Amino acid sequence: MVKALKAGGEVDSWCTKCKLVLNHRIIAMVGTTPVRVECSTCNSHHNFRAKAPSDKTPAAAAGKVRASAGASSAGPRSTRGPTKAQQAVMDRERTWEKSVSGRGVNEFRPYRVSEIFDEGDLVRHSKFGDGIVTRLLEGKKVEILFKDDARTLAHGLTD
Ligand SMILES: [Zn+2]
Repeated sequence: MVKALKAGGEVDSWCTKCKLVLNHRIIAMVGTTPVRVECSTCNSHHNFRAKAPSDKTPAAAAGKVRASAGASSAGPRSTRGPTKAQQAVMDRERTWEKSVSGRGVNEFRPYRVSEIFDEGDLVRHSKFGDGIVTRLLEGKKVEILFKDDARTLAHGLTD
């Protein structure tokens, strides 16, 4: 799934402060490329960088393979049935609903980068609302499913 990037939208970028590739909000674009982003984890503003500076693997290789794998054919289709993208959104919302709604307030832990989360933990984020940890990712990152989107955020950072 390729989302059209725009200012105010979201993108995964290297955070110069968290030192991780994390979810960011786009502040400024040049053409179709984000140039200025805000980290969703630490709120710092910095230049957009798609990869970790230490990442020596050829930057284009991995991205190109994924981009050419059928993503270009995505787009509005006939009104008959939901598209794959719409289906994915519906599935995501259903999963979120099932995991998060009806839970007691005290079952949620406030999101902080210094906290260490586990799969299935309920999280309350000051900006994104209630979510559930769906995956632990390598390098002190977690994937949290919020109502509107899944986001990669940092955890267990000791500053
Ligand atoms: Zn950050």
